[in-house]
Parts: sequence; C-alpha cells; structure tokens
Amino acid sequence: MIHILGGGLAGSEAAWQAASRGQRVVVHEMRPVRSTEVHRTDCLAELVCSNSFRSDKLDNAVGLLKEEMRRLGSLIMRVADEVRVPAGAALAVDRERFAEGVTREIVSHPGITVVREELTDVPDPAVAGGPVIIATGPLTSPSLSERIAALVGHSQLYFYDAVSPIVLADSIDRSRVFRASRWSRSLRGPAAPEPPAPACAVDEGEGDYLNCPFTAQEYETFYQALTTAERATVHDVEKEKFFEGCLPIEVMAHRGVDTLRFGPMKPVGLIEPRTGRQAYAIVQLRQDNMAADHFSLVGFQTQLKWGEQARVFRLIPGLEHAEFVRFGLVHRNTYINGPAVLAETWQVRSRPDLFFAGQISGVEGYVESAASGLLAGINAAAVADGRAPSAPPRTTAMGALAYYASHADARHYQPSNITFGIMAPLEQMDRRLRRDRKARNEAISARALADLGLWIGIE
Ligand SMILES: Cc1cc2nc3c(=O)[nH]c(=O)nc-3n(C[C@H](O)[C@H](O)[C@H](O)COP(=O)(O)OP(=O)(O)OC[C@H]3O[C@@H](n4cnc5c(N)ncnc54)[C@H](O)[C@@H]3O)c2cc1C
Repeated sequence: MIHILGGGLAGSEAAWQAASRGQRVVVHEMRPVRSTEVHRTDCLAELVCSNSFRSDKLDNAVGLLKEEMRRLGSLIMRVADEVRVPAGAALAVDRERFAEGVTREIVSHPGITVVREELTDVPDPAVAGGPVIIATGPLTSPSLSERIAALVGHSQLYFYDAVSPIVLADSIDRSRVFRASRWSRSLRGPAAPEPPAPACAVDEGEGDYLNCPFTAQEYETFYQALTTAERATVHDVEKEKFFEGCLPIEVMAHRGVDTLRFGPMKPVGLIEPRTGRQAYAIVQLRQDNMAADHFSLVGFQTQLKWGEQARVFRLIPGLEHAEFVRFGLVHRNTYINGPAVLAETWQVRSRPDLFFAGQISGVEGYVESAASGLLAGINAAAVADGRAPSAPPRTTAMGALAYYASHADARHYQPSNITFGIMAPLEQMDRRLRRDRKARNEAISARALADLGLWIGIE
C-alpha cells in the first residue's frame, strides 16, 4: 500500500504511476474539506494560475521533459494533450476539462482510493504499511508544514520563494563588468572578514562574481526607474508578508535612496580594475549553472512585472542588452532544501520509504512538479515490491531535474525549472553545434530520448 499526501499535479501523477505498476494507492487530498488560498475547486490537479505547460518543442528543455513524460506513460501529459487549446508552440489546456479529466481517471482507477481529508502529520511508512509520498505542494497546510519541518529539520524547510532574475552569459557586455569576489585576498587580508550578508543577498566572498559598477549618475537613473516601475498583482494573502532577509529589491529601494548601496548593491570590498577605485554601487552576477551560460542578479528578488524587469534591469551597466532566461519573483512557496534531504530517486536519504514530489520537493513549475511525481511514483512502487529504485541518466531532462534537486549547492538552493543548463552537456560538438543554439538543443534532446529509451528498457 502506498500513501500519497496531496492530489495535485505531482500526487496525481505519482498515484497513476504506482497504481499502473499494480500497487494499491491511497491519495489523501484535503480539498474541499479545507482549501488553500489559491485553489478554487475540489478537482485533483487543479492549475492554480496559468493554463500553460509552456513550450512543446524539442529545442526547449520543458518540451523535452514533456516528451520524456509521454514516453513514460504520464497521465498528466495524456490528459493535457487531449484538452489542449491553440497556443502556438506551447501546450496550453482547457483548465476545467484538464482537472476534471485527471480527477475522473484517478477516482475510477480500481487500484486508487481518494480520501478527502487534511493530514496534519506524516504517516510513518512502517505503520502505514508501505512507502509514503509527500506531495502537498507550495501551499501545504500549516500543521502539516510544521510536522514536515520537524522531520527534515527546521532550517531545511522554506516558506517563501525569492528568485532573482537570470540572464544569458552571452548577452552580458563584458567590457563594462569585471570579475572579482568581495574582499578578495589580494585586496584585503583574511584578518578583516566581511560581516555576514542577509540571506538573499549573498556574497560571502567565496566565488568569482561578475560585477556591474555604477557611477553616481547611473545609480540615480536606475533608482528612479526602480522605484517608479509597475509591480505585478499579488494574491491578497501574500501582500507585504516578506522575510526581512528576502525583501523584493523595489521594496528595499522604497526605504531610502541609499538603502540598496548598503544592501545588495554595496560596493565595498570590490575595486574596479578600470578606475582602481570602488564604484558608487555594484550589482553582482553569480554563475547559476554548471555550463556557466546563466548568471543570476544577486539579491534581486522582485515583484516587478516582467516587462518592467527587462526595462529597469537593462539600465544596469553591462546588462544593456541582457537576455532574460527567467524573471525574478517572490511568492509563498513551501519547499524543502532538496540537496540536503533527497536522493535523486526523490527518496529521503535517511528514510528510503519516504518520498517528496512536486513543488514541495524543490522543483518549480507544473511540468516539473508532475515529472518528479512520475518518478517518485515509479520508485515508490519499486520500494513496495522490494526492488531497487533508480533515476534516468543526467543526459535526460527527468534525470537532470532529479540530479539538480538532490545535488545542487545546498547553501544557496533555489527551486529550478528544467533548463538545458542543468543537463549534462554534449560530449562532442562540431562547429555548427557550437554556433547554433537551436541545433545544439535539438541534439541534446535526441540524445536524451535515446538514453531514456535505454533506461526504460532496464527500468
Ligand atoms: C500562486 C501560485 C501560482 C503558480 N502559478 C504557476 C504557473 O502559472 N505555472 C507553473 O508552471 N507553476 C505555477 N506555480 C508553481 C507550481 O507549479 C504549482 O503550484 C503546482 O500546482 C505544483 O504542483 P504540486 O502537485 O506540487 O502542488 P499542488 O498542485 O498545489 O497540489 C498539492 C495538493 O496538496 C493538497 N494539500 C495541501 N496540504 C494538504 C494536507 N495537509 N493534507 C492533504 N492535502 C493537502 C492541496 O489541496 C493540493 O491539492 C504556482 C504556484 C503558486 C503558489
């Protein structure tokens, strides 16, 4: 018997996969007995916001992830394909028909029982009679969150997502930025350490950063644009409930003209080689993926509208032509520090019969949540059968996502969408592939699907 907490995208997919492998599954879903701030119906797999599953093409990493899921018999993908609506290269769905379709399939499956109740504790797998999958999502109810925190360690469960924008390395003007770490040894000896920075504006002087230096005039122009830019609408429940260490950059800016220069834009400890002096203010860019083609703006979590982010952040010296891979955001999001807790099979390292899946496991997005549920369901079935769980290779999108959530840097962990940047790079590239990103991405996808086929063969 497998117990699944939460019947969202991850929980529904996990239930389907486990039941398809002959397991008896109980899904505990609290709606409609108790709802969340954003869910509106009692359907399983309700889409809480956009109706888009993003790109459906193989030159895009999320397009690849969806194709891999189809090949693994995904319920979420099958129903999404059945109820798709016109959306160009993206897969968008009729949201009502989608959630109703998933609900119908789950409740009519003979191996699955859906119990409508809020669980306020995590069942002990030894007592419950089999593996347990926690898939209660970003809006996990407070009493259960408390129990999960006790289980994984209070410092390993987060309640807010504060994401800084990420730009493509190729689009940074290298003639305007300089590479340095704060208080590098050549500038200042180890005897004078920098006081610790706030949680979200981290530069402990550990690694190399790209630094964008501002003159006083440039700072003034940037500050004006930032404090007058339009913010995205936020859900009522989220209004102004931010951690002090993770304030949106525009909220910090409103506290005073120099607040940023003493916070995430502080220039101290960074000498600009071109002038030999400290700049008036600095924005730091931190390498964000192993391939070094993505850089994030350190401490720039924000609620500005996406168009406004592009306009305002392109005023940062060196980012005039920046291409944004992902925009910043701040929203309520309950998730564990995956790399500190999980194995790449989505099992808790210290409790192999306990799994996390979905947004709470430290992934970001509808498709990624369902994908982690898919693998957790397969592996929970394996554990219930006494077989060894496994994960697809890192050359696949499924495997790369699982590897990222279990092996990224636990000190700075942030949930991620699937991107080609977190997948294993191609072993060999000719000149055409080096130059042509679309062709390169298609080659990565072709390799992924071939490798997934081999894994399915041995799974
Ligand atoms: C406001 C908001 C907007 C988002 N918008 C998007 C978007 O547009 N596109 C995108 O790709 N991603 C979006 N996400 C991120 C994420 O992809 C979705 O939240 C997605 O639904 C996550 O899937 P899940 O299965 O992990 O969680 P959910 O789909 O939320 O499912 C979790 C389920 O667990 C249930 N539950 C919670 N606590 C308990 C309990 N104690 N006992 C029993 N059941 C419980 C809930 O009722 C829910 O049905 C958004 C997230 C939020 C918070």
